[in-house]
Amino acid sequence: MYSSKNVSKFFMSQKSKVISAGLVTPKTSDKYSKMIYLLPIPKDKITEFGFDISPAHAGNLINSIDFYVPKNTPVYAAASGTVIEVMNNSRSKGNTIDYWDKGNFLEIMHKDNESTCYEHFRYRGIKVKVGQKVKMGELVGFSGETGFTENPHLHFQVNQYLGKDDFVTVKACFSNFKDVYKIHHKQ
Ligand SMILES: [Zn+2]
Repeated sequence: MYSSKNVSKFFMSQKSKVISAGLVTPKTSDKYSKMIYLLPIPKDKITEFGFDISPAHAGNLINSIDFYVPKNTPVYAAASGTVIEVMNNSRSKGNTIDYWDKGNFLEIMHKDNESTCYEHFRYRGIKVKVGQKVKMGELVGFSGETGFTENPHLHFQVNQYLGKDDFVTVKACFSNFKDVYKIHHKQ
C-alpha cells in the first residue's frame, strides 16, 4: 500500500544545521495527545508517511508526521478550533535550511493549549483566515511543496504549549488511521 520514496542524503544531512541554527528547541516529548484527531488528508491519497523522513523532525518537532500526497490534495481540519496563523504567499521550495520559513503554513488552536500545524501548502492554497472558527473535517486548503522539502507532502504536527512560543510536539492519534504507529516505514 505504501511505497518508499528516497529523500536525498544531502537533505537529511541538513538535520545538524536545523539543530545548530536553533530552528528547533531541544525539548522533546514522548507523550500522546489526549485528543483523537481526524486524519487531515484523504487516506487513499497517501503514498508514504513517516516520522523520520525529514531533517526538520528534530528537537521539539520530533513528533511531526509527513504524509506524502500529490499536490492539490484537499487538507481538512484535524479537529475543531480557531485559526491562529496563516502563511499563504510563498512559491519557493528547496532542500536547504534557507527554505525553513518559506513553507505555506496553517495553525489551528484547539482546547487545552493544544494546536495542530499543517505545512507546505501550494501558493495561496490555504482557504481559511486568521480568527476563523473551523470544524473538524472542514476543508482548510490544498497541499503543495513550498518551503524546506524535496517532495510534495503535508507536514502535520500537534503542539502542546508550555508558554507563549514555547511548545513541544506530541504524538497524534487519528480516529480513521488507528494503526499509524504500527505501519510506520523507516528509510
Ligand atoms: Zn515534516
